[in-house]
Amino acid sequence: MNATEPTWVWPRAAYVHVPFCAHKCGYCDFASLAGADHLAERYLAAIGREMEAATGGVPQEVDNIFVGGGTPTRLDADQLGRLLAMIRRWFPITPGGEWTVEANPGTLDSAKADALAEGGVNRVSLGAQSFQPDLLRALERNHAPEEVGRALELVRPRFNRWSLDLIFGVPGSTPENWVDDLETALSLGPDHLSCYGLVYEKGTALWKQWNAGDVESVDEESERSMYEFTIDRLEREGLAMYEISNFARPGHDSRHNLVYWTNDAYFGVGLGAARYVRGVRSSNTREIFAYLRRLEAGLDATGPTETLDPESRARETSILMLRRTQTGIERADFARRTSFNLDDLLGEPIRRHVSRGLLEDDGSRIRFTREGLFLADTVLCDLL
Ligand code: SF4
Repeated sequence: MNATEPTWVWPRAAYVHVPFCAHKCGYCDFASLAGADHLAERYLAAIGREMEAATGGVPQEVDNIFVGGGTPTRLDADQLGRLLAMIRRWFPITPGGEWTVEANPGTLDSAKADALAEGGVNRVSLGAQSFQPDLLRALERNHAPEEVGRALELVRPRFNRWSLDLIFGVPGSTPENWVDDLETALSLGPDHLSCYGLVYEKGTALWKQWNAGDVESVDEESERSMYEFTIDRLEREGLAMYEISNFARPGHDSRHNLVYWTNDAYFGVGLGAARYVRGVRSSNTREIFAYLRRLEAGLDATGPTETLDPESRARETSILMLRRTQTGIERADFARRTSFNLDDLLGEPIRRHVSRGLLEDDGSRIRFTREGLFLADTVLCDLL
């Protein structure tokens, strides 16, 4: 195996985290804060300092920006405008670049939608999750199904590109519920859909209920049939699967997320934000007062940091690339990015999963088979 240290370049992507939320949803493991809106001004000042430090005080042009949360649209229109101005200052976006902001139904109004559009945002990702009141209650979401349609009335005239997030496998749901949710989403005409299977993240309120036996997870067979229906139904609708949980019409893939799935570098600022800069992965503290105090004292808020050796980085690149269900791992691209020969590094597990029918190998690229998609976690763990 031969690998040379890559020549590091500055990231061409930036992630900005806004942690404020109306309340904490039961399944949520993100760095999100309920009842902390009074900290928004301090937070904006801190994140401005962090952007300046992250760029070394020299604006860094990027190809895509993602403002996620939390709920970025929990900020008021004036605060959103100021946040976007700071981002434009430190991370000027290349012409034709993609700038996404996550929004929650119920927190978007016309003043905020105008602030986003005028601030340079050109893509909105809307967290619908479900269109069924009982399933939204099970997730402890605090929006009503009809608020998704209302939010889209604000989004459609201002943004050419938008996406909906949905969750399947919610406790108490059936395959029929999921069919209804997907059909409702399709009736809204999305060009991009993210469909995630519910994960019981350790420590969340939902995980505690599930652990105590108060909540029953959906059985594996039903969850598989929900996922299978998703792939087939969206394909028929012209929304091709391009990543294990993501579906888009041609030209509507999330360019920011593709940065993660090719293991490319990205800036990350804000509470709990992760980044990958010059070969070093790190993330900020998730404790809000530690974050604010450190930035206010002119320090950074970095918590865990990891520098991967070339082989670990190559393995990590392989599993991220494999998540891209159409592209998979293209041998020549993998060698160019990692300086490793894919077959020297991972030939044995690849051959094993090809013979089990979970991966396909056409000589130039490796991809999941349809059966492999249902056992993706097992295959990805094995490669890592
Ligand atoms: S709105 Fe999103 S980020 Fe906020 S608590 Fe709910 S799931 Fe978490």
